[in-house]
Amino acid sequence: MISEKHLKKVILAADVYAICVQHALTTEKQEIMGLLLGEVDEVECISHITACVILHRSDKQPDRVEISPEQLCTASVHAEQLQAKLDRPMRVIGWYHSHPHITVWPSHVDIGTQGMYQTMEPLFVGLIFSVFQNDSRLRTNQIQVTCFQASRGVSQLERREVELVIQSSPLQNYNLEGIADLPRILIQEEVDCHDDKDNNTQDELASLHNDSFKTLAMVHIVSKVVRPLCDDLGERMTTVNQRIKSLEKMIKQLQENSDD
Ligand SMILES: [Zn+2]
Repeated sequence: MISEKHLKKVILAADVYAICVQHALTTEKQEIMGLLLGEVDEVECISHITACVILHRSDKQPDRVEISPEQLCTASVHAEQLQAKLDRPMRVIGWYHSHPHITVWPSHVDIGTQGMYQTMEPLFVGLIFSVFQNDSRLRTNQIQVTCFQASRGVSQLERREVELVIQSSPLQNYNLEGIADLPRILIQEEVDCHDDKDNNTQDELASLHNDSFKTLAMVHIVSKVVRPLCDDLGERMTTVNQRIKSLEKMIKQLQENSDD
């Protein structure tokens, strides 16, 4: 049974938003997913999302995203470690997934899944990122995000939109590690998928074919994910260095002024 307690607002750290979007943009063929970490203000019913865990897809069905109990458990352990490290409450408070080439609105399956989580955690939240929505007239690539909970409707569960605020935040080390982990997870998925296929075949030509597909997939990861990630981090570093320089200049000026 879904509780009547609902979330009023979700505050999402800008870096977590960036990781989710980067993750969603890694593939236009399947839906990707992950878990959201942070803390919930139970009195005000406001969620503060400050970290996330990128999940490995075990089932590469185009329109199926399922989080296994093992993955939920691993994410909880990760949250506990972060809690100890940061010395503030940290737990799994939501999930996200992508909708490549389709609208941002949650499907009936999504609302059902969300409802199931809410029976365990009334303030659990779902985020959906709609990506690769090309408008051929405008030649633009739209990214949309929705934040929702399930609520009891007349005959079935319904979607209930939750206000989402993206808050700027400095890049935290644990989020940087999250971004850096993305290529490793993607490569592992390809290796697992390839090994599954290869175990079933004795045919040399088929094996060669599968090998070349694996190579292609790896090249795709490097050129479409790793390179842009490096460029992005490089640019962030330039910005940070510029900021350090201007702050140092300010300190110097202040010191000179106080000497006068
Ligand atoms: Zn969905």
